[in-house]
Amino acid sequence: MQTSKKVQCKKCLNKFYQKEIYTIQQFQYKKEPKYKWTLVFFKKLKIDEWDSFCEECIMSYSKKLDDVWNKQKGQVL
Ligand SMILES: [Zn+2]
Repeated sequence: MQTSKKVQCKKCLNKFYQKEIYTIQQFQYKKEPKYKWTLVFFKKLKIDEWDSFCEECIMSYSKKLDDVWNKQKGQVL
């Protein structure tokens, strides 16, 4: 059965059911930074749009993304 298929979180390596997995693609719905900026940010961390993460890890990346973005934003003249 496809419904019982499990995937692995790339960060913590825990296994989850596919429907509970998150990817960085969900960040395209954030107001800022722009998704293009987000992709570049994660590319530096060797993460692409198709990597799978559990909710906990994606939240941690979301926070990291916001931190770096807010820091960088303050430096723009
Ligand atoms: Zn995880």
